[in-house]
Amino acid sequence: METFQRLESEVRGYCRNWPVVFDRAVGSHVYDETGKPYLDFFAGAGSLNYGHNNPELKTSLIEYLTDDRIVHSLDAYSVAKREFLETFEQIVLKPRGLDYKVQFPGPAGNNAVEAALKLARKYTGRSTIVNFTNGFHGMTLGALAVTGNSMKRGGAGVPLDHVATMPFDNYLDGRTPDFLWLRSLLDDSGSGLDKPAAVIVEAVQGEGGINVASAQWLRELSDLCREYEILLIVDDIQMGCGRTGDFFSFEEAGITPDIVTLSKSISGYGLPMALTLFKRELDVWEPGEHNGTFRGFNPAMVTGAEALRRFWSDDSFAASTKAKGDMVAARLGEMAAEHSDFGAHVRGRGLARGLAFEQDGIAKKVAAESFDRGLLLETSGPEDEVAKLLPPLTATEEELTAGLDIMADAARAAVKVAQPA
Ligand SMILES: *Cc1c(COP(=O)(O)O)cnc(C)c1O
Repeated sequence: METFQRLESEVRGYCRNWPVVFDRAVGSHVYDETGKPYLDFFAGAGSLNYGHNNPELKTSLIEYLTDDRIVHSLDAYSVAKREFLETFEQIVLKPRGLDYKVQFPGPAGNNAVEAALKLARKYTGRSTIVNFTNGFHGMTLGALAVTGNSMKRGGAGVPLDHVATMPFDNYLDGRTPDFLWLRSLLDDSGSGLDKPAAVIVEAVQGEGGINVASAQWLRELSDLCREYEILLIVDDIQMGCGRTGDFFSFEEAGITPDIVTLSKSISGYGLPMALTLFKRELDVWEPGEHNGTFRGFNPAMVTGAEALRRFWSDDSFAASTKAKGDMVAARLGEMAAEHSDFGAHVRGRGLARGLAFEQDGIAKKVAAESFDRGLLLETSGPEDEVAKLLPPLTATEEELTAGLDIMADAARAAVKVAQPA
């Protein structure tokens, strides 16, 4: 621990809630250097939907490395990239009727978001992006500009502009019809809103508090975008790759975004990889206009293709995630009822779930008490008011039950010292 405190920047974050040194990791468990196991219900913020060191993905990776296949190739053509693209087309795009071009924008989620915003601005010739309250899209300047969190925004050090923020689904508790404000601004030439290039949205806000947009709301947003010729960007970096059940979080709503971002679990193994997908006619990039050294990290493409073959060749994985999600939601519902004095309620979809507390500080305490009992949980939301569950989608029912048992104990311990508001 001393080494980290002496040498690693104060910017380090998650480690402050988990003051141990991790070493091994298998499936739904990570182990600290003393060998103590932790059940991992954070899964790399959704980067490990298939668990840690998934054995089948690991085999494909090891074989690739052992055979001296190419690891780094900028954006030169490689066999691994061809296989990834063909697998992605066959397993993900074609069955869903999606005719997207694929861009490899760089290794991280924020690279995918930056590329999406740049492309939307270039294609439309407009600069304003509409974002939503409590949205989260990454830490680079463009992505940060469309992110809500004031602490993170404060880190920019320069104005974050060309953005107009609108209420996410249910932000106003149903007091006004959906999109009344946005439609009014778009219709009024005196409103002061420059015509936007695009709207960027998460179907379920991961960092913002596990806020779920209803299918109806997403459809209305999609219709509005079409009506006003504004591009629709769905940021599926955290909720994609099956987190909500279906491969894409927007499938349930039956919409086709113009641009989609993926990262986190797309490599399937926790290796850095990101994609920006867009409708064919939007592909107005000049060669090399959006560049980057790490756009051809072949090991990630190898595990990514293998993950698609293993988990997405039919609908069974999505069905299993939805069933597990219902089971987790039911159990969280019991906890919410037990702690209704503290304003506890359940949020989420699929295996992105949260137990929100209206009373300040409780969710943070639930996470801390969970850690003490061997469960990794994070909090989410602007005030850290949600204890967030993102278990690996491969977690067994026994593991889910074990984690939920720990969480139920942790919640009892967390409210014990607090007085109902
Ligand atoms: C994590 C995340 C990002 C940013 O990804 P990084 O890899 O951290 O840059 C963007 N959007 C959403 C929805 C995310 O969850």
